[in-house]
Amino acid sequence: MEIKQRLTELKQELEPFGCKLVAVSKTKPNEFIQEAYDCDQKDFGENKVQELASKYESLPKDISWHMIGHLQRNKIKYIAPFVHLIHGVDSERLLVAINKEAKKNERVINCLLQIHIATESTKFGFSQSELNEFLNSDRLAELQNIHITGLMGMATNTSDLEQVKAEFNSLKGLSEEIKENYNFSNLDLQELSMGMSGDYKIALQAGSTMIRIGSTIFGARSYPTQ
Ligand SMILES: *Cc1c(COP(=O)(O)O)cnc(C)c1O
Repeated sequence: MEIKQRLTELKQELEPFGCKLVAVSKTKPNEFIQEAYDCDQKDFGENKVQELASKYESLPKDISWHMIGHLQRNKIKYIAPFVHLIHGVDSERLLVAINKEAKKNERVINCLLQIHIATESTKFGFSQSELNEFLNSDRLAELQNIHITGLMGMATNTSDLEQVKAEFNSLKGLSEEIKENYNFSNLDLQELSMGMSGDYKIALQAGSTMIRIGSTIFGARSYPTQ
């Protein structure tokens, strides 16, 4: 009941922005996901491969599963057959490995490039110069089993809202710049995945198209996860 109410409120808030909601269900039981699903929520995010694969097995097959966590190359194979969108692609090596698994499964996998926008060095992501170097080469053209549909970024965990805003705006700016300067058949930057429970209102103002919300919908997690 609570889940339903929180979902409804969030969706109302997102509607004027045309922003999509990814319900982050990590650590939460299948019953919670089923409850959200019954309220017409079809996009769910998980950050652990094993948990994602086992939830996929036991829940309705028309759920779109988003991998939002740090992904190790040797684990791609477990989600490659079904994953809807991989948000945290933070290196060319990972992109190459995803392409290989996608090919084996005879499909194209949608990916978001994670960009390092925070000041914290613990967060993952391409730096702007790494990204430019990659896109200036022609190497992306060889990866025909991936489709880069946007960028993803996590802001610094700080109470300084101006800083968070500046970081989200920088991601938006980078996206515009890439769209203008690069032309690849498998690069089509439509999505900006930014904003979580603590900062999604700022992300919406900065042009987010996809927010990833966990605790606001499902309640606080009982143990911390990355
Ligand atoms: C856990 C997680 C979220 C959701 O966090 P909440 O604060 O619970 O909304 C969003 N994005 C990523 C990458 C996460 O790991």
